[in-house]
Amino acid sequence: MSRKITVENSWVEGAPAYALDEKRGWLRVRVASVAGDKVNVKDGKRKFTVKAKDLQLSSEKALKGIEDMIGLDILHEGAIQNNVEVRYGKKQIYTYVGTILVSINPYEDIPNLYTEETIKQFLLKGANAPPHLYAVSDNVYNQMLSTGKDQSMLISGESGAGKTEATKHCLRYLTHKATENASFDGSNLIKQCIVDVNPVLEAFGNAKTKRNNNSSRFGKLFQVQFDGNGAIVGGNLISYLLEKSRVVKTSKGERGYHIFYQLCKGASKEQVEALSLEDYKEFNYLKKGECFDVDDVDDVEEFKKVCASMLKCGIQEETQSKMFAALAAILHLGNIQFEEKEGGTGENDYGVVSSSSTKSLNVAAILLGINPKVLQESLSQRTMGGGRGSVYKIPLQCKSCMDSRDALCKEMYSMLFAWLIHTINATMASKSTPKNFIAVLDIFGFEVFEQNSFEQLCINYANEVLHQQFIHHYFKLEQEEYATEGLNVEVLQIDQVDNKPVLQLMTAKPVSVFALLEEQCQIARGSDEIFIDRFTECLTKMDEKSSSLASRVKRQPTLFAIKHFAGEVKYEAIGFIEKNKDPLHIDLQNVMNMSAKKNKFMAEVLKFGTTNRKMNTTVIRTFQKQVNGLMELLDKTEPNYVRCIKPNERKAAQQFEGPLVLSQMRYSGLLDSIRIRQAGYAVRRTFEDIIELFGNSKLGRAGKAEGGRQGCLTILQTTMMDQSSYVFGKTKVFFKNVDSYAHLLNEMAA
Ligand code: ATP
Ligand code: MG
Repeated sequence: MSRKITVENSWVEGAPAYALDEKRGWLRVRVASVAGDKVNVKDGKRKFTVKAKDLQLSSEKALKGIEDMIGLDILHEGAIQNNVEVRYGKKQIYTYVGTILVSINPYEDIPNLYTEETIKQFLLKGANAPPHLYAVSDNVYNQMLSTGKDQSMLISGESGAGKTEATKHCLRYLTHKATENASFDGSNLIKQCIVDVNPVLEAFGNAKTKRNNNSSRFGKLFQVQFDGNGAIVGGNLISYLLEKSRVVKTSKGERGYHIFYQLCKGASKEQVEALSLEDYKEFNYLKKGECFDVDDVDDVEEFKKVCASMLKCGIQEETQSKMFAALAAILHLGNIQFEEKEGGTGENDYGVVSSSSTKSLNVAAILLGINPKVLQESLSQRTMGGGRGSVYKIPLQCKSCMDSRDALCKEMYSMLFAWLIHTINATMASKSTPKNFIAVLDIFGFEVFEQNSFEQLCINYANEVLHQQFIHHYFKLEQEEYATEGLNVEVLQIDQVDNKPVLQLMTAKPVSVFALLEEQCQIARGSDEIFIDRFTECLTKMDEKSSSLASRVKRQPTLFAIKHFAGEVKYEAIGFIEKNKDPLHIDLQNVMNMSAKKNKFMAEVLKFGTTNRKMNTTVIRTFQKQVNGLMELLDKTEPNYVRCIKPNERKAAQQFEGPLVLSQMRYSGLLDSIRIRQAGYAVRRTFEDIIELFGNSKLGRAGKAEGGRQGCLTILQTTMMDQSSYVFGKTKVFFKNVDSYAHLLNEMAA
């Protein structure tokens, strides 16, 4: 069969191609007939019509599912989807795009993918190994040793894409590699802790959500530290933006943090009694989501594992009991209800603890080591500063009492979490100064939901920053390849792919989303409404590029939209100021201080918790500082990217949804990296590849006889009409675009 594909940009009947189907993405089809700019195609027996622009050249290599997609003869969306889909069908979930590893969640255990035996094989294979997290980790480790440069592994993807699982595989491999390579002279405790830290972190920081039964509700950076011989000497963890609200509120079908359920179900009889956990299904915070169990997870078993892991992370049983008491206190606090008590004027009805909640109040107070009466007062009144240092107290209305209660619980939990990270870090701390580190980043991906709030704004901001770092890195790599090949090529102008305008829109001073929000948080009468009005006003003061990326949503006055690199997100502004200020009223601080006086453990928690929580700042300012710190750290490392992808929304095995996969590839920057490539020379083949293409034909034999550069030159001079459509580098030929390469393929077939 002729392999003729296109002639002067028109499709030839019978040509294999990819056609874009709304539901299934790019499908391999054959061209049936052409009518103007419409093309009729056949997918097996099914016939349909597509616009010429939705038809792409098919790739022979993609059909085989090759390991590194940079080697695809044709680099575009259709070929890329085809290639990963073919591999996915063969349960090969890992594929490279150059130096980037793409990982598609199989949602099933693939036999032998992660066994000790497999690890051993990868330790032996080194550079010749097939795509795998182990191969990447191996390479990262070797790079660190050979160049002396710190490394980072940036693992990104949507919720449920497999980031946390990937992180664990990387860490596990690294501990094996280090042990094999350099005798382990660090304390065994450190290595144990690195392996055992995950169950602990997951118990306290993960929860069942609609998207993922084990969703991380915080971001983390794990640094494994090495000495000059490559032996592990320490570890360090940094956490980002724990979702505090989950402690007090979960939507239907979701759960709070795993540890609460594990504790309630797995605690010993004595513990249950001491902490009054008998009727755990009656805890408000646990029952809101109407979901107490996770499929295929045994919370009792998990609890045992978590306790054992905590021991290995340096948290002794005695301390564990105190942690559990603090958790139980949160649960009992959550059961304190308030009822209206007339305040005289009718309008000013205020809340008091309802009589049915007395037991909860008392238990919570005992667990915290404070007087129940004082606890009750603290929750139901607010101390305000009057003039000249005087203070006065105002009673709170019912709704505000409950908000107070929730604020206290959120605060206690997030301090407990901060303390936990601090304690683990103390156990993993290196005794000597490490020579190098490998940092593994497992952080929330871009989020766009039906309703997006302040949390999404923060998360998407972090993703913009990381995306920019990725683009800049990739750009540099591309320029370096041209330089090594001796070509003088203008790659795409960076501002064509750079997301700087969005970042400006979000963070610039004095006008940007963040700056205006901060402004409203500073002034006494600031409000969400004024914030959003100022936002529109200020758009006119920004540079055109930035302001074109933002808009107000028609007929929905409190919504504004931002065009992120990954797509447009509509944010609901109501609640922004409260969430950004995240106030912790003095009365609640007092509760914790009082508890700390009686309870040594709470004192510890408060000490480390408050280092994380500076009182006179805002969430945005703290988070921006953290993100900047992260970028500073990453900038000093050699980045290695892992892009995790979710093949479907149903957590189902063997279900590959093309459009879903492509959209994730698009916003993970994979397609941008390809765009950068195509802006210079889209197709690059080694001289040998070209000669090989022509095989045993007359021209092929002639090429082979001459060999290398000369052989390749002979072939191209004979076959290519347009000599300006390609250039020679030192080892490769670079084709301007896919069409010129297709022309060569046609010639070969003729
Ligand atoms: P989130 O952002 O919500 O934390 P995530 O990207 O960290 O999501 P994971 O928790 O790593 O996602 O993965 C979700 C689930 O997908 C896992 O609990 C597991 O069931 C499955 N999974 C992920 N990776 C693999 C894998 N390599 N093999 C088998 N199953 C996997
Ligand atoms: Mg996760």
